[in-house]
Parts: sequence; C-alpha cells; structure tokens
Amino acid sequence: MTLNIGVIGTGAIGREHIRRCSQVLQNSRVVALNDIDRRQCEEVAAALQLQAEIYDSAHDLINAPDVQAVLVTSWGPTHEEFVLAAIKAGKAVFCEKPLAVTAQGCMNIVEAEMAGGKKRVQVGFMRPYDSGYRALKQVLESGEIGAPLMLHCAHRNPEVGDSYTTDMAITDTLIHELDVLRWLLNDDYVSAQVIWPRKTRHASSHLKDPQIVLLETAQGTRIDVEIFVNCQYGYDIQCEVVGESGIARLPEPVAVQTRSNAALSVAILTDWKKRFIDAYDVELQAFINNVLADELTGPSAWDGYAAAVAADACVAAQKSGDIVQITMPPRPAFYQ
Ligand code: NAP
Repeated sequence: MTLNIGVIGTGAIGREHIRRCSQVLQNSRVVALNDIDRRQCEEVAAALQLQAEIYDSAHDLINAPDVQAVLVTSWGPTHEEFVLAAIKAGKAVFCEKPLAVTAQGCMNIVEAEMAGGKKRVQVGFMRPYDSGYRALKQVLESGEIGAPLMLHCAHRNPEVGDSYTTDMAITDTLIHELDVLRWLLNDDYVSAQVIWPRKTRHASSHLKDPQIVLLETAQGTRIDVEIFVNCQYGYDIQCEVVGESGIARLPEPVAVQTRSNAALSVAILTDWKKRFIDAYDVELQAFINNVLADELTGPSAWDGYAAAVAADACVAAQKSGDIVQITMPPRPAFYQ
C-alpha cells in the first residue's frame, strides 16, 4: 500500500520532507503541493521529478480526493487553520512544530480531534525518534541510575539572523527540549524561570543571548537548559541526567576522531538539519506506517498543547523575571 501525501509549504523543511517522502521512505508518494508562492512548488516538483498536482489553495489540496494525508510545513501562524481543515476533512495530518502559535490554538485542535473521535494529528517533534534520546530513555527506564534528580541541558547554534528575537529562543529553539524532556521523564512541568548570564558580543542589539531556563517537574526533577544561539563553534545539543545512583548522558553524534598536527580532534556539526537527519526519516516513516495501519502513535496534539503551555510560561518568565507556575489540565483519556 502507498500513502498519497499532499504538502502545504515548500520552504526549507517542506522540501526536505518532500524529498524524504518521495525518494527515501517506503510506501509514500507526494501527489499534491501548495505554497503561497506557486513558483516554489513548480521548482520543487521539477527538481525532484515529481508527478504532483499543484494547488493554489491549501484547502483544495486538503479536500482533494486522492490526498490521503497532509503534511503542514508552512509558516507557523498558518498551522492551526490547516490542521483544523484536515481534521474536518477526515484526513491524517503531520504538522511541523508549532502545532499552533498559542496554547489556545493547540487546544482548539485537541478539541476538534476529540470531537471527531479519532487521532488524526502527529506533531513534528522529531527528537523522540532520535536513537540517542531513545537510548537515554531506555537507561532511565531500566532503573540503572535510579530516579532522575537533575538534568543539565544545552541547545547551542553557531549563529542566528537579525530577525531572531529573544522570545524565539523559547518558541523556536527551547520548544524541542520542552517536548523531548517531558517525554524522556514521563513527567509534566510545574514551573519555569529564566535567568540571564552576561550577554555575548556576537548577539544582535535586540537579542538577549545566552539565557538559562530553569524548569521544575511535577515529580520534583530540576532542569536547567542553556540556550546559546550565537555560540560560534557549532550546533551542539547536550543532555545529562543526574540520577540517585549514576549519571546518563545523551551520546554525541558519530564522528571520526583524528590525531594530526599535534592535536586529538573530533569535528562538531554546524548544521541542525544534519544533527537529526535520521530522526526526521524515522518520524515520517512512523507517520506513514501508522496512517496506513490506521493508528497514530507519535507526538500527539496533546503533546503539542503541553509544549505550548510550557512555552507560554517560559516567555512570561523571560518578561517578568519571576518563577512562573505552569498548570496543565489533566490529560484526557483520549490521549492516554
Ligand atoms: P520557510 O523556509 O519559511 O518555509 C515556509 C513555507 O511556507 C514558505 O515557502 C512560505 O512561503 C510558505 N507559506 C507561508 N504561508 C503560507 C500559506 N498561507 N499557505 C501555503 N504556504 C505558505 O520555513 P521552514 O524553516 O521550512 O519552517 C516551516 C515550519 O517548520 C515552521 O513552523 C518551523 O518552525 C518548522 N520547522 C521545524 C523544524 C524541526 O526541527 N522540526 C525545523 C525547521 C522548521 P513564503 O516564503 O512565500 O512566505
């Protein structure tokens, strides 16, 4: 069986996912494209030699009879509208993060999905599909290091453009930690605080960089995440779990160690696309398989909502300097 996919948004990640679904993964083909810029769809279709229909309206693509599943990879503020339309059309939808730009927008999707009585939404949180995070979770669940007490994490990018703002450090960058750490610990956040080290001279005048987000979970685990988006040296993701009887660290990406010129070295990645390239493949293959099996199991609309609630609290904490409480409603049975 082959899943016919329609893609809305043919920008950076859209093109990557179109290439995956048409050339790398199994049992899928891209049959429909839409972007606000039609020429972009034509370019992508030509570059990848796709036999795909190009739609001027995202809603016409969603409702096209031959489109069985929809990938939403357009600009964040459009996600809610397109995901709600896919649910209404009874189609499975993979939506890149954020599910919606507000927690209320995510809740609208949760409510629509529950009203339809069937899980149709997977959110593009790919880190739970990364082999390193999966191995780390296995160690935690084995009990080898006891209960997790503290997590020390870092999310570092070499540099960001001038349009990157201080709150985007939460909504675009930390959002991945907000999702994956909740999944790793099987726990929810109860408070957030943001503290500010000395600012780097490499950040633009309007950007506060680096910043440290302090989170507390319902079970009492304390998490610090350093977000440093002009670190210069590489794209570097760190996660160390301190347990009652040991420490577990996220493995480094595989890289050859060299001895030359009187130095022992290992290269550090600089491109975020390469750091999680396998995880993107695994997450989308899982989506395709699950849609064909008629049972979605990946990051859900509820997970998108939970990350958005925590992100809102972190942005409020950035602004106030206070410890901000995070209140999550109980998880509905639909998402257990
Ligand atoms: P991008 O390069 O700007 O691509 C977005 C595309 O959507 C652009 O071609 C844009 O057209 C188009 N678009 C905007 N409004 C539209 C509409 N109403 N209908 C149809 N198309 C529309 O951005 P990106 O980097 O690919 O990011 C897209 C989404 O993926 C974002 O939500 C981002 O947060 C997410 N993302 C996730 C990851 C991850 O690691 N999971 C990584 C990267 C991005 P114009 O350029 O003409 O506006």
